[in-house]
Amino acid sequence: MKYKCPFCFEIFGDRHKRIYCSRKCQQYDKTIKDYYYTLKLLNKLGKDFIIWFTGFWEGEGSLCQEVNSKTRNYHFTFGIVQKDKIICKWKKYFKFGKINSYLKNDVYQWLFGGTGKILAFTEAMNPYIKIRKRKIQIQKFQKHSYVKEIIKILKEK
Ligand SMILES: [Zn+2]
Repeated sequence: MKYKCPFCFEIFGDRHKRIYCSRKCQQYDKTIKDYYYTLKLLNKLGKDFIIWFTGFWEGEGSLCQEVNSKTRNYHFTFGIVQKDKIICKWKKYFKFGKINSYLKNDVYQWLFGGTGKILAFTEAMNPYIKIRKRKIQIQKFQKHSYVKEIIKILKEK
């Protein structure tokens, strides 16, 4: 049996019953699907929400990069902190991430990973970022080699 990779359309044999021809294609496809999923939901919320959200993120948000010591793979996490439980509604709406609650200070943090999701958020927020330090943080994320490749593929689509 021969199969066609749904990402690169390359024809390959049925070894290990894989759907994709390679791990790379599987990863890229997931990232791009995540990106469009998140972008669609962000667009539904509209510009006013994004401006409002950006303000909160600039104040109490995070965008971190971690390296897995075994695989040497990069992993990004995006976080936002709120005093309000509204943050739980965001998680419910987007259907990803987790909520950490810090009852001592009565604050909640919504934390999620995934390059595609974070890319959609950073692209949506970018025009409304006012703080230079935050702009640089987003630029750094978008200049990461994997993220750069994803941006390139998205432009070609
Ligand atoms: Zn492929």
